[in-house]
Amino acid sequence: MVVPTKIDRPLLEMIFEASKDSHPYEFGALLRKDGDTITELLLLPGTVSSTQSALFKLYMMPIDHDVAGSVHSHPSPSPYPSNADISFFGNLGDVHIICASPYNERSWRAYNRKGESTRLDVVEL
Ligand SMILES: [Zn+2]
Repeated sequence: MVVPTKIDRPLLEMIFEASKDSHPYEFGALLRKDGDTITELLLLPGTVSSTQSALFKLYMMPIDHDVAGSVHSHPSPSPYPSNADISFFGNLGDVHIICASPYNERSWRAYNRKGESTRLDVVEL
């Protein structure tokens, strides 16, 4: 299994926009990869946002081999994972993004499945 080390810039911008659209609720989706680069969001149709539940919906999503991990937003300025986030990360994929308010280049972080900070380079495909 290749652990992704890059993310496509337009996808990252899409994450910022989706997070803004969901504010003050959480946005959550799965990440799909192509080789070593995260290139796609997997959205669950009909998801109803609430302040707490974005991640729980993801448990119900179909999983395939190209699922790299997850992304969710924090309506607060904290990009750090909660204990619930870390236990979720451990169940699903190698890379997890938290995009905190105000949802821009400086307010997101990537983590591994243990909840440790990890590097994700932003690339143009
Ligand atoms: Zn969280």
